[in-house]
Amino acid sequence: MNRPVFRFAPSPNGLLHLGHAYSALLNARMAGENGGCFLLRIEDIDTARCTPELEKRMIDDLHWLGLSWEEPVRRQSQHFADYQTALDVLIEAGLVYPAFMSRGEVRARIEERMGEGGEWPHDPDGVPLYPEDERTMSQSERRRRIADGEPFAWRLDVPRAMIRYGRNLFWDESGAGPEGETGRIAADPARWGDVVIARKETPTSYHLSVVIDDALQGITHVVRGRDLFHATAVHRLLQEILGLPVPLYHHHDLIVDEHGRKLSKSRGDTALAALRQAGLQPEDIRRQVGL
Ligand code: GLU
Repeated sequence: MNRPVFRFAPSPNGLLHLGHAYSALLNARMAGENGGCFLLRIEDIDTARCTPELEKRMIDDLHWLGLSWEEPVRRQSQHFADYQTALDVLIEAGLVYPAFMSRGEVRARIEERMGEGGEWPHDPDGVPLYPEDERTMSQSERRRRIADGEPFAWRLDVPRAMIRYGRNLFWDESGAGPEGETGRIAADPARWGDVVIARKETPTSYHLSVVIDDALQGITHVVRGRDLFHATAVHRLLQEILGLPVPLYHHHDLIVDEHGRKLSKSRGDTALAALRQAGLQPEDIRRQVGL
């Protein structure tokens, strides 16, 4: 009875490139091969960078590639109430805390430690971890600083969450991680430090909305780029805390440019729109991405 459900979940903050084409086509193909359905989700919580115009161009590119999906399309910006509900659960459980340090303050802290000859840990993407001291801030100070209107983000108290929910945390991977990891993968969310779960003005983050939506849309197979392999550890922890079902994961190859670098929207790499204008056909795109 359980029909497999796949999704492609782009963010309309730039034009789609060959890497997105590969991910979308692979999802649709795997859905077809498994007798499943294929959904489109627009990950547009960053309402400053994601625009209706970019979304329209993205959908147009996907149609041009020959893709279709079951309606309705889920647009994250229309569901902030769902994320707020989940955030309230995390606040109530004492598993998130308000974090007030600005980027500059974090940088200064790290430089100070390095100056003393110390080391500072980095996450799997190479970003320095957020300092740990606000985990233990008193409730009264938190309340005072929030009441004073200080900007803050809600961060997950990962050590506390791991004590309660981190036993035997794993996922099943049918693709591969950056080191070829496949099969049953032990999840280690602590590598990310206390990740941002929500911001003062936006009651969510990528990590929170992706797990909520995968659950609400009944996603059984998450097929996405290898760059998100390690983030799955955070997703697994959130799923345990919130009591959400666990999909199977498949992290696929990334399409790289001639220098071996991952394609990026910001560099305007190989946008599908440009390839279309240059006269390429959808079958040329399929061939280029090896499908
Ligand atoms: N919105 C994310 C991106 O465009 C993908 C999220 C996911 O597939 O989990 O990179």
